[in-house]
Amino acid sequence: MSNLHPQLSQTAAQFIQREHRLLIDGRWVAPSAGKQFDVEDPGTGRLIARVAEGQAADIDLAVAAARRAFEAGDWARCKPADRTRLLLRLADLIEQHGDELAELEVMDNGKPLAFARRGITGTAEMVRYMAGWVTKLTGEAVPLSMPGTWHAYTVREPVGVVGQIIPWNFPLSMAIWKLAPALAAGCTVVLKPAEQTPLNALRLGELIMEAGFPAGVVNIVTGFGGDAGAALAAHPGVDKVAFTGSTATGKRIVQAALGNLKKVTLELGGKSPVFIFPDADLAAAIPGAANAIFFNSGQVCSAGSRLYVHRKVYDQVVADIAAYGDRLQLGHGMEAGNDLGPLISKVQMERVQRYIEAGREGGATVVSSQRPAIEGGYFVPPTVLADTDARLSVVREEIFGPVLCAMPFDDDDLASVAALANDTEYGLFAGIWTQDIGKAHKLAKRIRAGSVSVNAHMVNDPALPFGGFKQSGWGRERGREALELYSELKSVAINLGQD
Ligand code: NAP
Ligand code: MG
Repeated sequence: MSNLHPQLSQTAAQFIQREHRLLIDGRWVAPSAGKQFDVEDPGTGRLIARVAEGQAADIDLAVAAARRAFEAGDWARCKPADRTRLLLRLADLIEQHGDELAELEVMDNGKPLAFARRGITGTAEMVRYMAGWVTKLTGEAVPLSMPGTWHAYTVREPVGVVGQIIPWNFPLSMAIWKLAPALAAGCTVVLKPAEQTPLNALRLGELIMEAGFPAGVVNIVTGFGGDAGAALAAHPGVDKVAFTGSTATGKRIVQAALGNLKKVTLELGGKSPVFIFPDADLAAAIPGAANAIFFNSGQVCSAGSRLYVHRKVYDQVVADIAAYGDRLQLGHGMEAGNDLGPLISKVQMERVQRYIEAGREGGATVVSSQRPAIEGGYFVPPTVLADTDARLSVVREEIFGPVLCAMPFDDDDLASVAALANDTEYGLFAGIWTQDIGKAHKLAKRIRAGSVSVNAHMVNDPALPFGGFKQSGWGRERGREALELYSELKSVAINLGQD
């Protein structure tokens, strides 16, 4: 108990301290090998819970349960309107338990409570958006030109048993971004949360059962990526694997999926550019670009980590963004007034610190003020690096921390500006700040990325598809596209005989 933050509610504290099991076939079961692993509070580095370590044998059981639920029983027979009703009930439960879920998110991931609380609303809305599609996933009648008389049509059917593997940066919403479209499409699921943040997925599992989803529709196996995760990605009984995380692990997922050619969707890393033109409304662009990299301590796949500022306003913008970062208060997510929490782990903190050092050694200037270290948690203050050379690792690689690389540009020629944006193996997101709407459209068209925002950063509406070009991934999350990627299209042609 002493390791839990004193401001944590009784409800959240009791949940964290419970024995945690695996959700398989509608029951909470002990892991087959009887092992557990530690969960820590990244704001203090202290142990807060022990969680079941699921392994390949548990994945086998979970996949078998998901297969049974997919092929027979209440879920297989469930009418679309009843699936909608179940999802809407889940959305209501998420909102009703919003305070508890937000606190669990803080203890697991470290982010400030106000941001976690805001995330709950978005999560419930995503479930409702997907619930609305269930009754609208239609095929079409297809006119054939072949000799004879035909009735031909297409139908969308669920892809089957889906393995879902998610990261730790937004534990609850990543789970819902995966689960909601899969369930809306009629699939059954085995979900493996990130080892650093298993708590909210486990609480969500309880709410899913409370909402009335039949046994085996959602199975949750906590455990390690190299073990439970790898077993899920390779499993011959899984029809699709959906993954969010690093590009390196994404490539491993693809290899593991080869055995049975399961469908794969991947939401991977980014090194997203943000452009500020001299005609931009700087009063909006400066906090916009600052939040694009500092929000969630930079642990966001679409973080705006490369900042290109027109030379006419470069000095002012870089100084102001650094000053904005310097004003952000770091501290434990449960304490009011803190703008930034810790990074997820010691490993991640040291990784980010190594990148900052490599940038400095490569000739970059650290514009941000140097703050004293905070004891205990894994804190890295907002860091703006100026004069960064395009060849530096800080400019090329995904850091996943509050580290911004600022570079001036001189060109008013959009082809050269787009070449800067596209000088990366990633293609997840780009931001453009300008008042010239023609320039914004023309540049948006030239950028090779799955999402572009103009005069805003990251528009997280459930209706707007999100995903990557290039090595940022395969497929899309959110929007109708997400659902369609959990379905197979079947063509049926009926020979009606002679006229
Ligand atoms: P990761 O390895 O990509 O982890 C993401 C998920 O995949 C976790 O659930 C992980 O389990 C699982 N996993 C790991 N190896 C696996 C394997 N061989 N087969 C199947 N599943 C596997 O990311 P990470 O290690 O947590 O973070 C490393 C770096 O990845 C970060 O510094 C950041 O740059 C990047 N990252 C990107 C995103 C994104 O949204 N783009 C998200 C997270 C991290 P475990 O939790 O047990 O490892
Ligand atoms: Mg990992």
